[in-house]
Amino acid sequence: MRRSRAFIPTAKEAPSDATLPSHKFLVRGGFINQQGAGLYNFMPLGKIVLEKIRAIVKEELDNALCQEVQLSFVTPIGLWERSGRSEAMGKEMLRIRDRHENEFVLSPTNEEAMVELVKNRVTSYKDLPLNLYQINTKFRDEARPRYGLMRGREFLMKDGYSFHSSVEDMVREFNLMEETYKKIFTRLGLDFRVVAADSGAIGGEGSKEFHVLANSGEDTLVVCEACEYGANIETIYESEEEIDALKAKSYDELQELKIDKKCSCGGALHFKKGIEVGHIFQLGTKYSAPLEAYFNDENGRTKPFEMATFGIGVSRLVAAVIEQNHDEDGCIWTKATAPYVVNIMVSNIKDTAQMSLGEELYKRLENSGIDVMLDDSKERFGFKMKDAELIGFPYTIIIGKELENGMVQVYERRTKETLSVDAKTVYAKIMELLS
Ligand code: ATP
Ligand code: MG
Repeated sequence: MRRSRAFIPTAKEAPSDATLPSHKFLVRGGFINQQGAGLYNFMPLGKIVLEKIRAIVKEELDNALCQEVQLSFVTPIGLWERSGRSEAMGKEMLRIRDRHENEFVLSPTNEEAMVELVKNRVTSYKDLPLNLYQINTKFRDEARPRYGLMRGREFLMKDGYSFHSSVEDMVREFNLMEETYKKIFTRLGLDFRVVAADSGAIGGEGSKEFHVLANSGEDTLVVCEACEYGANIETIYESEEEIDALKAKSYDELQELKIDKKCSCGGALHFKKGIEVGHIFQLGTKYSAPLEAYFNDENGRTKPFEMATFGIGVSRLVAAVIEQNHDEDGCIWTKATAPYVVNIMVSNIKDTAQMSLGEELYKRLENSGIDVMLDDSKERFGFKMKDAELIGFPYTIIIGKELENGMVQVYERRTKETLSVDAKTVYAKIMELLS
């Protein structure tokens, strides 16, 4: 992309209600803008990041033999009445009426609809297991939509549902999805933990959450410094008062607290804050039984499907990457999530030598499949640099005055270090940094 043609409305000021770095920087960097309470538009940069995350999620799920579908976002209320969830979901579920006074729901999740899709179409154990997912809009009329993309009312979720002929097979899939989710979050470049979790409103036995560790996280976790162990305090503390008191503490306050118990591996335990970006549940027959979704087993007996469900907060991940990767000047995207991995900044666009090197590098990098921005805008150098910091390109090639001596600079956003490189070798240098 050329900066001179790009729609990236960066701003000096953050929205007055923004407290989280991701909320401030995603709005200031021209990634998203707020349409209403908990409603966000994705502008070009935000859309690219969202699609990159979506593509990684899809690739890993497809590798694990999950199949993508797309369910209608508006669902008839009857579905929710049959499962008994119409009441349980309460006000979080937004209900609407059409011109014939029929009642509908904006999907907050899709267990019922997915069960209906499979019911009577999959009738034999021979057709199992089956894992269907979608990456689709959800609506939850959250009591307090805030923190930007972190807790929207309308948001993008990957929701998957698996169907099995036995509990053992369902548990096998649950474990496979845990491994698949780990691959996804690792590829995104995130520092995360898998924790035993409270299963909340969706219910069922056996549930794990995936948390991105970040000081601003809403959940309070206990994690081991030596091994992978982590738990949500909601599952390991018994008294409600104790849990509430711990939840109310800030990250800094939590660091002062000592945990007397040790991890089973012998390692020390610490409190951390986490952002829930994924959740996997073993459902059993919680939905298949009331919705009468049955199959015939090897002995010709009719049984309800054993099920599990798997969620990822795709739009929340856009914010989670930034909560974990930012500084006072703006975003620091990971290589996998950056809208453009390399920014070529031509300091003086009237200088033909600078401009032609910029154009040449732009073409070469694009041809090598690198997502690259050519900053050919008319702005001053200082302005361009501030903008690049705010947007958070992992690398910026600065083509400036030094080109007279055959040199350019490679600036790394995370370390803020600048490397002087011979203009003739800068392409190779960038390819090396990205490999
Ligand atoms: P939370 O406790 O944060 O409200 P949840 O337990 O209600 O989450 P799930 O029903 O498990 O969420 O949904 C799956 C995933 O969708 C969550 O792990 C989270 O990443 C994401 N998610 C849930 N609610 C929102 C929201 N309001 N905005 C953005 N993402 C969300
Ligand atoms: Mg919720």
